[in-house]
Amino acid sequence: MSDCVFCKIIAGEIPSTQVYRDELVTAFRDIKPAAPIHVLIIPNQHFASVNDVTSEDEPLMGHLFTVAKQIAEQEGIAESGYRLIINTGPDGRQEVFHIHMHLLGGQR
Ligand code: AMP
Repeated sequence: MSDCVFCKIIAGEIPSTQVYRDELVTAFRDIKPAAPIHVLIIPNQHFASVNDVTSEDEPLMGHLFTVAKQIAEQEGIAESGYRLIINTGPDGRQEVFHIHMHLLGGQR
């Protein structure tokens, strides 16, 4: 998607502080952190929101969780705990329409 800010991050057209990348997902630090650790984990494939996910995408969406767990370990917050949030649509306060999982930790 040419006008998607997160697609541009994946393509390296917009800078980001990347913390993880593989063939399916990319993770980078949120530009306006809401917690000491605030990482966004996104599929490399564009999905506007959870509303676009189908049963065929279950392995990819499940991968977001195992990567989140891995990053939590990497960031040293696996034991202290963290929140995983996926905002969806206007009432969900979604601002960027490329699915992203917020990983928030480092404080209660
Ligand atoms: P949401 O409300 O769930 O759509 O959250 C979008 C998140 O993306 C917000 O927390 C923003 O701070 C973050 N964000 C927007 N643009 C960038 C960017 N260029 N790099 C990193 N994070 C961003």
